[in-house]
Amino acid sequence: MSDGVLHKAMAPLVAPPVFDFWVQKINRTLSWERPLARVVGREVTARGTVTLTLKANRHFRGYAAGQHVPVSVEVDGVRLTRTYSPVTPWQGDRRLAITVREVDGGKVSAALVHALSVGDVVELGPAFGDMVLPDGGASRPWLLVAGGSGITPLMCLARALLAENPSADITLMMWARERADLCFSGTFADLRARHPNLRVLPVLTRESRCLPNELSGRPGAELFAAQVPDIATRAVRACGPWGFVETVSSLLAPIAADFDSECFTPPPRATQAGEAVTVTLLRSERQVQVPAGAPLLESLEEQGVQPAYGCRMGVCNTCVCDKRAGTTEHVYNSEQHAEAGPVRLCVNAARSDITLDL
Ligand SMILES: Cc1cc2nc3c(=O)[nH]c(=O)nc-3n(C[C@H](O)[C@H](O)[C@H](O)COP(=O)(O)OP(=O)(O)OC[C@H]3O[C@@H](n4cnc5c(N)ncnc54)[C@H](O)[C@@H]3O)c2cc1C
Repeated sequence: MSDGVLHKAMAPLVAPPVFDFWVQKINRTLSWERPLARVVGREVTARGTVTLTLKANRHFRGYAAGQHVPVSVEVDGVRLTRTYSPVTPWQGDRRLAITVREVDGGKVSAALVHALSVGDVVELGPAFGDMVLPDGGASRPWLLVAGGSGITPLMCLARALLAENPSADITLMMWARERADLCFSGTFADLRARHPNLRVLPVLTRESRCLPNELSGRPGAELFAAQVPDIATRAVRACGPWGFVETVSSLLAPIAADFDSECFTPPPRATQAGEAVTVTLLRSERQVQVPAGAPLLESLEEQGVQPAYGCRMGVCNTCVCDKRAGTTEHVYNSEQHAEAGPVRLCVNAARSDITLDL
């Protein structure tokens, strides 16, 4: 039975949460309006890393290759959201695969890697991100540069390019600490057998002895010049932790034909928390004291308030909330806003007493 049919029949009769409660007794991914997805496959793709195949319901609107999707799960009774980048292009079968690497001490990555099984249901958010392919991109040469789990959106871009042009000229350099941390080794072997112009170069930073097809060392001008001498003709996309992406950008953005990048972790922030200000939370009818200058999300969490959040670096919008009064300041670019309007709690600090619709 499709939820579209049930939706129409019951529209005048029930509230959405009541609808969800009853239809989910039939199928746990049926919902009035929530984009839910069932885990239909689970595969270990590297040390501490699993690829989960999800089948989404009709409320999920899909994504472009290279974008990211907020994924929510319940951990110890609390609903938490983090962002993951699908590794397969979106197609008509409503399936998407995400590859998740466990982060030390991480709540959601640990739950996805160890606790989630086939049949479990997660909630998805709307896709976001600008690192998508330009029209006709598969006819030009590419260099994709991945650090750790930053391989995920680049894997999706590579698959999309090869689907458009099986002879697309793609060099993919993927950094990992050791061989056991490299994702998708089997998949790349299959792809390379079918696509002669796909070149995959694993680069290891802590492996004691490299195999003939592997390189070692950190990203550097000499390494890129030796491995990709025609870099000036290539469109480059890079993804990984902030420090890795900064290094690659400084080396390649000035010399590549075209350059774009995305980070999975935020830049380090100079701590400059000041005196306490009062945050009035309208919906929860509470007032809390937080240090001026410190990110609101962290400060509110320290006071026991648990706003929804995703990326914690100002890109996914999960923590956006309405500010009704007061001045906030962006913690990275120091822009101040005194007018009422939406504010991202993860990258904004209070600079006066403020009132939030939270
Ligand atoms: C745009 C975007 C796309 C992403 N895509 C993927 C993806 O496809 N696959 C994937 O595995 N991850 C991806 N991430 C990272 C992911 O969203 C989570 O941040 C990560 O899984 C950790 O969440 P957690 O709840 O386990 O850790 P938390 O409980 O939030 O944090 C635990 C500790 O780990 C640190 N930490 C958080 N994230 C990272 C990280 N990525 N690397 C190192 N330390 C970290 C925190 O600072 C904290 O100290 C992406 C992030 C962004 C912003």
